[in-house]
Amino acid sequence: MATTTFTKKVPGVDTVEPAVTPPPQNATTFLKKPKLGGSKTRKKDIPEGLWTKCPSCEGMIYDKELDDNLKVCPKCSHHFPIGARERIHSLVDTCSFEEMDPLMESVDILKFTGAASYEGKLASAKKKFPMMKDAVVTGIGKLGNHRVALAVMDFSFLGGSLGSVVGEKLTRLIEAGTDRGLPVIIISTSGGARMYEGMFSLMQMAKTCGALAYHARQRLPYISVLVDPCFAGVMASYASVGDLIVAEPAARIGFAGARVIKDTTQSELPHGFQTTEFLIERGLIDALIPRLEMKTKLSHYLDFLLDGRKQSLAALG
Ligand SMILES: [Zn+2]
Repeated sequence: MATTTFTKKVPGVDTVEPAVTPPPQNATTFLKKPKLGGSKTRKKDIPEGLWTKCPSCEGMIYDKELDDNLKVCPKCSHHFPIGARERIHSLVDTCSFEEMDPLMESVDILKFTGAASYEGKLASAKKKFPMMKDAVVTGIGKLGNHRVALAVMDFSFLGGSLGSVVGEKLTRLIEAGTDRGLPVIIISTSGGARMYEGMFSLMQMAKTCGALAYHARQRLPYISVLVDPCFAGVMASYASVGDLIVAEPAARIGFAGARVIKDTTQSELPHGFQTTEFLIERGLIDALIPRLEMKTKLSHYLDFLLDGRKQSLAALG
C-alpha cells in the first residue's frame, strides 16, 4: 500500500503548499500550478476573512492588525469604515458609556412601497446588524476629563439616513446635554434624509437644530465630527452647525453629490472637490483629525471650550 501511494506522487507537486481541497492529479493541473506566485501560495494557508486589501495602497492587512489600529491602514493611513460601537469604544473610558434609548425603533408610518418595502429594509438591516436598532447610537460617557453627550452614526445601517428615530434620539441626547450642562459631540456619517419617511424625516433637520440652539444658549460647546461619507440633509442641519467642525482625512463631505453638481453647473469640478482637505482650505472645516488622534484632540478641545465657558460665566457674574 505504501509503495502504491508513493508512486502516485507527481515530482514537483510536493514543493507546493497543499490546498484546502487537493487538486485532481492530472497533467493539466500540474501545468497550471507553477503559475501561482509565492504570495498566492502563502495565502492558501490562511482561511478567508482574515486579511483585507487596502483600496488605497493595495497592501494586504491582517484583520486583527486593522482592528487594533481602529480600521486605519498601517501602511498608508487609509481610513476604512468603522461601526458606531467600535468608535464609541475607541473614544470613551471603558464602562463609562450609558446608552440612551437603545430600543427605539422606526415604524413604517407612510406605508412606503417601492422596489422594496421600508419594513423589509428595516428588518434586513436589523438582521444584518443585531446590535443596532437604527443608524445612530447615543449616550453619556466620559471622554478625557469630561462627561459628554455623545452620538455616533453608523453608515452601514440604511446609509446612515436621518429618519424619525435618528432625529428623536439626537434631540433627546442634546436636551439631556442641555439639562445636565454637558458638551455635545455628534459623529456624523450619512447619505441624507431617509426617503421612506418623507416629511417626517425632513422635520428632523429643524428639530435637531432647534435643540442645539437651546444647548448653545447655555454656552455649552457642541463639536461636530464629520466622517466619510457625510452628505445632504445631515450636512444641511446639525452636522454643519458645530462650534467646532472637524473631520477625518479624505472624508467625502457635501450637500448634493458631485455628479449632480457637475450636471447642473455643466462645468468641471476642481480636483479633490468635496473632501476634508478641500473644505478645510475654504473654511467649512476647522480641523482635520486622523482617527488615531481623535480621542486626544477632542479631549483637548473640550478642555479649552469648557474652560472658556467657565471664564465667560464668571465674567458675567
Ligand atoms: Zn493602505
